Formats: sequence, structure tokens, C-alpha cells
Amino acid sequence: MKISRVIIESHAIQHSSCDLAERPSESRARGIGRHRKLAAVVVASLFASAVAAVSERSATGQEIAQPASPVDKINAEAAKAEITVVPLRGHISVLMGSGGNISVFTSRDGKLLVDGGIAVSRPRVSRAIDRLGPGSVKFLIDTHWHWDHTDGNDWLHQIGATIIAQENTLKRLSETVRVEDWNHTFPPAPLGARPTSIVQTDKTLAFGGETLEMHYYGPCHTDSDMYVYFKKADVLAVGDTFWNGVYPFIDIVTGGSIDGMIRAANTNIALATERTLIVGGHGPVGNRAQLIEFRDMLAGIRKNVAQLKAQGKTLEQAVLAKPTAAYDAKWGHFVIGPALFTSLVYRGV
Ligand SMILES: [Zn+2]
Repeated sequence: MKISRVIIESHAIQHSSCDLAERPSESRARGIGRHRKLAAVVVASLFASAVAAVSERSATGQEIAQPASPVDKINAEAAKAEITVVPLRGHISVLMGSGGNISVFTSRDGKLLVDGGIAVSRPRVSRAIDRLGPGSVKFLIDTHWHWDHTDGNDWLHQIGATIIAQENTLKRLSETVRVEDWNHTFPPAPLGARPTSIVQTDKTLAFGGETLEMHYYGPCHTDSDMYVYFKKADVLAVGDTFWNGVYPFIDIVTGGSIDGMIRAANTNIALATERTLIVGGHGPVGNRAQLIEFRDMLAGIRKNVAQLKAQGKTLEQAVLAKPTAAYDAKWGHFVIGPALFTSLVYRGV
């Protein structure tokens, strides 16, 4: 593809070619399923029941055969989910219904996406993108490596998008990663799905009359997260450092921690103003007040869990003490329930 009309200014970045590793022998998880509306609620219940069942044991103490991973179930939902389009401003819209939220910027020079969703949604995501206006997808920016944000990389690259991501996203997509909390092993992504424009700490991209600022948080939700700030539109896409109104997942296996999550939330709060629209990885588009509420929830639960751990409580005892109780009614209804969130926090304090 030609990108001659695009000016890329980089700070501490490097560009790498796609010759890094062997082609994987298996493709990413696929699934089929049925979806109507309130996708989040349906997915949440599937995820919660799958997570609960993973640790189930029979009366004789033998492990019951493990059910399908919640990853497969979420893929199955995404395979049928309708895509909801939420127009923001400055030619930016958010697509919901394909795993993580997808931001789409349209311009005279083509389109740019922040995150690519789950590949099984391709027909519906593709249709939604086409309806936003003419022009092909020139760039795809991954906020982090997780499949519900990067599984669409392959097809979006095939239609001409250059993939931009933090260097640890490239690293994670190039290796096999076992995420125990999801009971799932991710194979290396196909070569075409791997980012070729690599951000280390900061990168500025001028495209289509907009200026996009990317910044690496350091380890927080994973070790690969970065935000994308659309300066002119004042829209801040923060990936999974913000789950609006629900407990977030923290991927400890690939570098995540509660303290990193709190640091990232503070970074987002410092950058946002009262006018800024915040696109989190999951949940509705939010604002600075909701970011603060999210940060306060993280900090409050961290304090409670750290106290229990300091008292010598085991993980099981800490979960039974319900350190999230004051927050559960508001935050505990999505894929990450109170017990799992307590466990994720406990392991980081
Ligand atoms: Zn994630």
C-alpha cells in the first residue's frame, strides 16, 4: 500500500519487517453461536459459568473434564453478535459487539482503526466500517495483544492496513501464550497479523487531518498496553486500562498487576479533561468522572485485599472475606466477578 500522503513522526520507535518467526501450525480459536441483544450480559454469564466450571471437582475429588474455554464461548457469541455503531465526534465512531471496542476514524485519506475485534465478526465489522464512508482502512493500531482486540489483525492487514503496536504486542503475538485465568493457550498469530510499525514509548501519527498521539503505559493490564489520543477530536482510546462500569481483567501472566492498572488509570485521568471522550476496552464510552470512579474502585479494593494479605490470609480466605463487597453491586456484573477480581488483585499485592 502507498502511504506517501501520510506523515509519520516517531520518537524512539523502530520499524521491523514481517520476517520474525515461523508460521503457526494452527489458526486462532473460532466458534459459532447465537446472539440477540445485550451481548455483554450474555457473554458475561457464559464467561462466569465457564470460569466457575474450570475449577469444579467431582465428589471423589477427581477433576471434572474441563469445559470449553471462555475464549471459545466469547468467540461463539462474537460470531453472531450484531455490531452497534456509536458516533462520537471528529469523524470517530465506536463499534461494539466484536470483543473489545473498536474505534474507527474516517478521513479523506482513508480509515484508521484502534483495535480490530474478533475475526469471526469480520462480515459485520466490515459492513459497519463500509457504512461509515468511502475509503479503505490504512492503519490499525492495537492497544495491546489480547485476542479480543487483535484477532482481526489478519484480515485487516489483508485488506491493506498497516498495523501499529507497542513492541510487547509484537512479542506476545509472535509466541505461544498460556493464560490460565482463561483456561486457554493462544498460538502465535499469523505473520500478517503481527504489527510492523512498532512503538516503544511514544509515537505521533498525522493522518487524515487528525493528529494521533500514542503512549506506552508500562506494565498495567498486560505489558503491552498503550493509549491512542485523537488530539483534534479530543477522544482518548485507552484499551483495557479502563472497563467502564465493570471489574477489569488483569493479565498477570503477561505482566499485568493491580498497581500497574492504578498507574494507568492515573495517566488517563491526567490526560483527560471534562470534555474528553474516553473509549475503554469494554463498556460504554465514558468520561473523566467515570475514569476517576474506576481508579477509586481499583485503589479501594487494592487497599482491602492488601490488608487481608498482610494479616496472613490465604487467597481462599481473602475471597471469603469479600473485600470487594462495597463495590460489587456496581462493578461485579460483567465477565470478571468479585471472586476472580479479588484473586487477580491478591496476586499483585
Ligand atoms: Zn485485554
